Amino acid sequence: MKKLALSAVLLFSTLLLSQTPLKFERFFLDQTLRIDYYHVGDAAEEIITIDQIYRQGVWAGNPKQLIDPFNTGRYFIKLYDVASNALIYSRGFDSYFGEYKTTEPAENGVKRTYHETALLPCPAKPVFFVIEMRDKNNLLHPLFTRKIDPAAIEVIKENPDRQDNIYPVVRNGDAHKKVDIVMVAEGYSAEEEAKFQADLERYAKVFFAWEPYKSKRKKFNISGIFRPSRESGVDEPERGIFKNTALNSSFNSLGSDRYLLTEDNKTLRDIAAQVPYDAIFILVNSKRYGGGGIYNFFCITTVDNEWSEFVFQHEFGHSFAGLADEYYGAEVAYNEFYPPGVEPAEANLTALLDPPNLKWKELLSPGVTVPTDWGKAKFDSLYLADLKIRQQKTDTLAALIRQAYPEETVKQVEARYDSLSRQLNERIKAFARNHPLKDKVGAFEGGGYVAKGIYRPMLNCLMLKFEKDDPGFCKVCEQAVNRMIEYYSE
Ligand SMILES: [Zn+2]
Repeated sequence: MKKLALSAVLLFSTLLLSQTPLKFERFFLDQTLRIDYYHVGDAAEEIITIDQIYRQGVWAGNPKQLIDPFNTGRYFIKLYDVASNALIYSRGFDSYFGEYKTTEPAENGVKRTYHETALLPCPAKPVFFVIEMRDKNNLLHPLFTRKIDPAAIEVIKENPDRQDNIYPVVRNGDAHKKVDIVMVAEGYSAEEEAKFQADLERYAKVFFAWEPYKSKRKKFNISGIFRPSRESGVDEPERGIFKNTALNSSFNSLGSDRYLLTEDNKTLRDIAAQVPYDAIFILVNSKRYGGGGIYNFFCITTVDNEWSEFVFQHEFGHSFAGLADEYYGAEVAYNEFYPPGVEPAEANLTALLDPPNLKWKELLSPGVTVPTDWGKAKFDSLYLADLKIRQQKTDTLAALIRQAYPEETVKQVEARYDSLSRQLNERIKAFARNHPLKDKVGAFEGGGYVAKGIYRPMLNCLMLKFEKDDPGFCKVCEQAVNRMIEYYSE
């Protein structure tokens, strides 16, 4: 009964919405409503239970953008005004649980609990708080509904903790009209605060060195927050390394050696709440290659690897604009990430179910056929060989470190693998550099971890990363990032 009523509400309010633009002042206060909850389950079943609800500082989002126009993310938060039944706010997102449920343990019925946070403009009156999830056909259905009265006594109204040093590195104005990024320190000891400051400055520079951020610099604010960790570094479980750090971040997330994430969402959100923010970036004090980015959730990368700056931009593409990985044949342990016959929700991948209506047809280069013949077999022989070498390197190094081989030996082995990888990389780069379609938009098969049946927009892209040091976003990804910048700032 309830589900039926809710979809009727949804239909009705969508109709209403198309007629009258929503006024922020009519439904909201200039404050943030933070709803912390637990997301529990496996591949077959998931449930939500509320943890705590807070009213915190000013709303960092854009008061002119209340309804999400992107239709990206595995989940959606929706707020309905109780008095009028109108949909007054919506926002898509992904979560750690959302990735977990696609893994083998989840498929085998192992239930896990993850902590998540919904950041919302604080409603002036009671609302229905709804979390929707996508089914296998990417259609949204309600997963959880709760009436929330922002004036209720159980809503926590204390001031957020302000114990940490805050560094405003980029200031361009009012949080409501800017993309507000908070960069949080992880794995820096108290003695390493100056290093964090230097890394923060460096990454703010790196961020604006790439398009489209370079031309849109004035639309961003960046703050850094330093919470010292007891120990320097980060957990590397496969290598037997465990560090006591502020956010408990760890490599080997979801079984993937280079996947670096934190499950300690509550601490992360408590730290971030010290400033108004739209997006979280965690800077991890480590030399190892790795990172992660989850759409409208958080983004994380190590800072001292030779590829860190690249990873930083790539992961932010995931977490900020909801872009999909365009690479394939990789080692990430996701099952049926893009089931055959279903159009992906992300802007930069398509299943090409209707070729004449290509998802990015307004950007398609004249004269390029769809699907695009791009010499995939030749490319794959180089690309998959490189992936294999990198996997062998990871496994061998982990084994040597676990067996306490001398550092010198480990370094020699690492150098040997790096040299092989570099040679292949040079050939891959040459393939891309000399390719007749290198600047063209088409539909290139291979993307989203899937070698067949999923297509990406261009030969190369920051979200593909087969030529790590060079490419910026492809034209489709760049457009998606630009749209997200506008969403926050115009
Ligand atoms: Zn792209």
